[in-house]
Amino acid sequence: MTIKILRMGHRPQRDQRITTHVGLVGRAFGADGMFLTSNDRKVKESIDDVSKRFGGKFTVEIDVNWHKTLKEWSGTIIHLTMYGERLKNKSSSLQSITDDILIVVGAEKVPGQVYNEADYNLSVTNQPHSEIAALSILLDRIHDGYQPNQDFDGEVKVIPSKNGKKVEYLD
Ligand code: SAM
Repeated sequence: MTIKILRMGHRPQRDQRITTHVGLVGRAFGADGMFLTSNDRKVKESIDDVSKRFGGKFTVEIDVNWHKTLKEWSGTIIHLTMYGERLKNKSSSLQSITDDILIVVGAEKVPGQVYNEADYNLSVTNQPHSEIAALSILLDRIHDGYQPNQDFDGEVKVIPSKNGKKVEYLD
């Protein structure tokens, strides 16, 4: 199963850090890539730089047409929105999804069409908060609380440690 994120409405002046974190959370929590609707090279470069050092195959595509991406997605579309049905009531049906998943997160107001195209409009509480928090909890539920322990196979490998920082550098 492939999991991709569609990040909509990114404003280069104010959303760069949040969108970069959407990608980094996606990468670390088991997604395979992010589609970004804006043409922001800096976000792509920051995430690609982490992937180069810490490994993995996370992809970032910029300047993507959101409408076309939704139309052409052949798997399940999950839109994260504070107005949606509660994620906690849908966890078991999410874990039975076997086809590819596209997770949509917004920045500014999300067009109504996204609500119609999505198979699920899901909320993590019905309070306004953050796409980073909502995405991390959704990915955790999709994986049933199992943090993917895939071998990212990068130049830098962090060794879990009780005290201090242990890092291996591969040549
Ligand atoms: N004002 C925008 C609107 O009305 O669509 C939303 C802005 S919010 C800061 C950015 C994104 O965070 C949303 O598009 C949604 O993906 C996510 N988000 C915020 N609160 C959420 C919640 N309670 N549950 C799920 N996703 C949420």
